[in-house]
Amino acid sequence: MRGVQRYWCERAWLGGEAAEPGVLVSVEGDRFAAVEPAVASPPAGSTRLEGLVLPGFANAHSHAFHRVLRGRTQRGRGSFWSWRERMYEVAAALDPDSYRRLARAVFAEMALAGITAVGEFHYLHHGPGGAPYEDPNAMGKALIAAASDAGIRITLLDTCYLHGGIGEEPGETQRRFSDGDAERWGERAAALEASENARIGAAVHSVRAVDPEAIAVVAAWAHERNCPLHAHLSEQPAENEACEQAYGVSPTQLLADNGALGPGFTAVHATHLSGTDIGLLGGARCCCCFCPTTERDLADGIGPARELIDAGASLSLGSDSHAVIDPLEEARAVELDERLATNERGRHEAPALLEAATAAGHAAIGWPEAGRIEPGAIADLVSVRLDSVRTAGAEARRALARGFL
Ligand SMILES: [Zn+2]
Repeated sequence: MRGVQRYWCERAWLGGEAAEPGVLVSVEGDRFAAVEPAVASPPAGSTRLEGLVLPGFANAHSHAFHRVLRGRTQRGRGSFWSWRERMYEVAAALDPDSYRRLARAVFAEMALAGITAVGEFHYLHHGPGGAPYEDPNAMGKALIAAASDAGIRITLLDTCYLHGGIGEEPGETQRRFSDGDAERWGERAAALEASENARIGAAVHSVRAVDPEAIAVVAAWAHERNCPLHAHLSEQPAENEACEQAYGVSPTQLLADNGALGPGFTAVHATHLSGTDIGLLGGARCCCCFCPTTERDLADGIGPARELIDAGASLSLGSDSHAVIDPLEEARAVELDERLATNERGRHEAPALLEAATAAGHAAIGWPEAGRIEPGAIADLVSVRLDSVRTAGAEARRALARGFL
């Protein structure tokens, strides 16, 4: 039997408006057994955690292989679509062994940034030309193994990807993403197994890559298993235009009409939405995953986070293409981008942004018992130093608030 470990946090955020001083946390196995605030000094036998202690962060949207493009796509003019061509070149070169090595490094960088669980939106399923590997889930299993190597949890969001665009055959690299049809996607994904540190979820790549009938199949698959369902949504105006032209409705409406929306659904990006779209996502209590460092890198635009939250949606955060892996930067950017777009400050308070980076993100990828420092929750603790050159001033600000300066 494992004993109880005790950690005394100089200061810990327990979900309220501000951090609490002197929090004693007891951990048994992988869970918090007790959380006691207002403990003035570290009891004998406890481990002292300095600075500000937070719950583990969740990275709710990741494509591990996009990390290769960091620093390689900044020259010359371009757009999301020209960046995508470079991304396909990377995808074409990977096999299960090299993918595991690459993802291990990416997930290790996440662990160092305080991320304790990742939602890996995985669509690079097959070998060159679309030929399945001997184990058709070899690539997904490589990602699960990589997360285990790096010491973080993973939800493998196995992604259905069938078409090169609406009504189009997949291109050369895209054939590696496609199972041919949604039924075959479902059979392959059903063979993936969860474990202590890995769970399985589903994803619709986008309305560009998955037709309405197939969206309904994937949504039913996720509902049957009560697992998370994610989809890229309205990242680019061109997606909205193509969807409107083909089906006469917006991508959000198309997903709604085919049974995708609900509390288990996460819309990734949700950048270019109408008021009706916002109402649909909020009314169905969906989660919206914003990835601001990628969205700015790809010149996507600024999504309506405030309006979505006001309509009833929750917010989570992802580092997506990994141009940057820093959950605090993602959280900060949600607010700062809106300041630029609206000329208003304070549209998102810090506790709400921390909630997006922690509890809401874990819930969105199917770990609702993580992301909070409370009894029964998974025991992840992240400590942020307050005496580094980046954080200098935090102590002085507290003193100022008390009238000492
Ligand atoms: Zn993505």
